[in-house]
Amino acid sequence: MNKDIATPVRTKEILDKYGFSFKKSLGQNFLIDPNILRNIVSHANLTKKTGVIEVGPGIGALTEHIARSAGKVVAFEIDGRLLPVLEDTLSPYDNVTVVHQDILEADLKQVMADHFADYEDVVVVANLPYYVTTPIIMKFLLGKVPISGMVIMMQKEVADRITAVPGTKAYGSLSIAIQYYMDAEVSMIVPKTVFMPQPNVESAVLRLTRKEVAPAEVIDEDFLFQVSKGSFIQRRKTIFNNLQTSLPDGKAKKEQILQAFDKAGIEPGRRGETLSIQEFAKLSNALYEEFG
Ligand code: SAM
Repeated sequence: MNKDIATPVRTKEILDKYGFSFKKSLGQNFLIDPNILRNIVSHANLTKKTGVIEVGPGIGALTEHIARSAGKVVAFEIDGRLLPVLEDTLSPYDNVTVVHQDILEADLKQVMADHFADYEDVVVVANLPYYVTTPIIMKFLLGKVPISGMVIMMQKEVADRITAVPGTKAYGSLSIAIQYYMDAEVSMIVPKTVFMPQPNVESAVLRLTRKEVAPAEVIDEDFLFQVSKGSFIQRRKTIFNNLQTSLPDGKAKKEQILQAFDKAGIEPGRRGETLSIQEFAKLSNALYEEFG
């Protein structure tokens, strides 16, 4: 087996060789602990039949661990300075394709068709650039990219919001949008010390697994997310007050909003954080005719 990229000594050697300087604006915090990398990959349950999309390979620290276990890896890297580095560090692995592109610009369904047509199972594994964690996850979910799951490192605070349950401070529209599609669990908490440079925040690895069955019947998913987002604009206010502000012409259409609460069997004086996904689904279905 090749020498790990992610030891502190080898990482420093590679960075020095290419005169690489980190760009904070691109969320460049590289992993320098092979144990953490092995742990991340073990949570993804990879086999040679699994295809993997990686976001932000950096100098290839996580990529090589994925490549050893998976059938194929397609890794999207936005920073052109890293391409010659990756060509060098990943040369022992013939099952890796590096794509120089912003993942948010990628046509992911095309990527699935071009690279993974023969794979029954495709997952995302990544140490995400923290400044775009949510847009990246939502691009896969709202775009209905047929992946079976994700194992992704992110800021712990965001992982806590994604996995939060009703009645807690962290619960909000992000918990609802992601838990609508995926089962979410924190696999491990990761200290700052395993990164170079160290980030200012604690990190966590989150595992998302696609739900076989949607948790609720919903007329329009985008409208469900619009209603849930609108219900949290001021957490201390009731959903009724928040929806009057957030729905189009909501103030003028108080009566119609109240009727929808009645139809959904939900008390308008409740606050957003007390509603389950199923209750938000009922409410958004009831509001859809008037506001959808
Ligand atoms: N995977 C490497 C590791 O674990 O050491 C690097 C992870 S680092 C947290 C995030 C990486 O994502 C960087 O290499 C950065 O250049 C890249 N990146 C940032 N924004 C990106 C985007 N929009 N699309 C693709 N890659 C991006």
